[in-house]
Amino acid sequence: HLTRIADVDGEINAFLHVAGEQALVTAKQVDDAVAAGERPASALAGVPLALKDIFATTDMPTTCGSKILEGWTAPYESTVSASLRAAGIPILGKTNLDEFAMGSSTENSAYGPTRNPWDTSRIPGGSGGGSAAALASRQAPLAIGTDTGGSIRQPAAVTATVGTKPTYGTVSRYGLVACASSLDQAGPCGRSVLDTALLHEIIAGHDPRDSTSANVPVRPVVAAAREGATGSLKGVRVGVVKELHSDSYQDGVLASFDTAVQTLKDLGAEVIEVSCPSFVHALAAYYLILPSEVSSNLARFDAMRYGLRVDDGSMSAEQVMAATRAAGFGPEVKRRIMIGTYALSAGYYDAYYGSASKVRTLIARDYERAYEQVDVLVAPTSPFTPWKLGEKVDDPLAMYLSDLCTLPTNLAGHCAMSVPSGLSEEDGLPVGLQIMAPAHADERLYRVGAAYE
Ligand code: GLN
Repeated sequence: HLTRIADVDGEINAFLHVAGEQALVTAKQVDDAVAAGERPASALAGVPLALKDIFATTDMPTTCGSKILEGWTAPYESTVSASLRAAGIPILGKTNLDEFAMGSSTENSAYGPTRNPWDTSRIPGGSGGGSAAALASRQAPLAIGTDTGGSIRQPAAVTATVGTKPTYGTVSRYGLVACASSLDQAGPCGRSVLDTALLHEIIAGHDPRDSTSANVPVRPVVAAAREGATGSLKGVRVGVVKELHSDSYQDGVLASFDTAVQTLKDLGAEVIEVSCPSFVHALAAYYLILPSEVSSNLARFDAMRYGLRVDDGSMSAEQVMAATRAAGFGPEVKRRIMIGTYALSAGYYDAYYGSASKVRTLIARDYERAYEQVDVLVAPTSPFTPWKLGEKVDDPLAMYLSDLCTLPTNLAGHCAMSVPSGLSEEDGLPVGLQIMAPAHADERLYRVGAAYE
């Protein structure tokens, strides 16, 4: 895999940092242990992985795709990366992302965009485009992403790979640099549903160092993937969400979705249409709640504690902070800090943040009602196949629209997965099928995903 990275990543730009020797040392330890007749640390011991560059690691830099953290190495290890290491998984390196995970194309990275291996003139999705492109270009068989509004699922869809956003609170956020804390969730990415399930069980679990970590047993997702692989969905009730199906989606995406629904029926699933009327407000609510949390979380990049510091020696502390943040943050991060600061201001808080929080509750209720009738919901993962690099960079609203189908899951704290759903008849580019399930029922995603795959 290191050779493959050396060969192709000059063009793809999936990695911001390649670990090299360290990955080989881990791989050799696993080999030696197996040769000595020892039981490997996990089913994935020795299988290398690409880690999104937003997890704190003590032996590699963590940039979050931002100039403000260029060259910074964390003094502590994230729980996710520590779990990977304990499982004997060699970490190949850190992957590219939109700055602080804000974006849908990886073009907001301060280190240049990642390119989609299916067509290098197109975006690999975002914010986890680096992890998805590493999988699709065979630079890594496993990857880790984070999903605040779709950043695991949408890149999976546009690169024809698999990605899961687990139930909120089931994978530790300790050492995951915060974007929007009430939405962020780390998750597994792979090229098959079973690989993704194996990785899911390694990273999930209660962590006392994360105050939002759920103290519940890890769901049996590997067993569910194996059950699903037998191919039958008899007895499974699937809901098609009416509000996540619109004429504004690409024809090729809608055609692929209709075929996918037919396939689920052919596998024995009972399919009905369900309505989730509040979902039409998800985008507006998300783009108030997320910037509000961002404006608070990113206050820590103050030039005083760590990271970039712009200081000519004559400046006041306030001037140093302003100059550093002006130079260190990119335009999308600044835009969201400003929107969030505005939405949280005295006098506007109830109108904006308060209303958005109410919409969030309505969305959760819509889901509850839907799950009284069905076991899982399905929708396209993204309304669009991968678009051309540069096509939406000057139009933030057009970029935000690509998150329409993924945001409701994050707002409710539920789980969802994207599985490859063939190539669009329209443009020959990858399309993803999104499967959603209630909180703490992640195994349903894997059962249906493995049957469909
Ligand atoms: N594209 C969404 C955004 O820009 C989702 C990001 C994410 O999930 N980290 O906010």
